[in-house]
Amino acid sequence: MPRRGNTTARGYGWQHQQIRAQWAPQVATGRVICWRCGEHIPRGAPWDLGHDDHNRDVYRGPEHRGCNRATASRRDASPDPIGRSRTRW
Ligand SMILES: [Zn+2]
Repeated sequence: MPRRGNTTARGYGWQHQQIRAQWAPQVATGRVICWRCGEHIPRGAPWDLGHDDHNRDVYRGPEHRGCNRATASRRDASPDPIGRSRTRW
């Protein structure tokens, strides 16, 4: 219970939970839009508090959990579609 040390080291710390808690009632209404894909986050759907891709200190807002995962997996995959490898210089 005593909160010692820096929350920034963990990434998802106290601040994240505070902001998430602020969003929660709004997301629960089903009227909040996922900032990544622009679709509504349905009531009761799993969601994550999204970070800015370029600055992880910045919270962009709620996003679908699927959208959150999509960015993570996209990072692993090759950014180039198949068409690129055909035209090798
Ligand atoms: Zn989305």
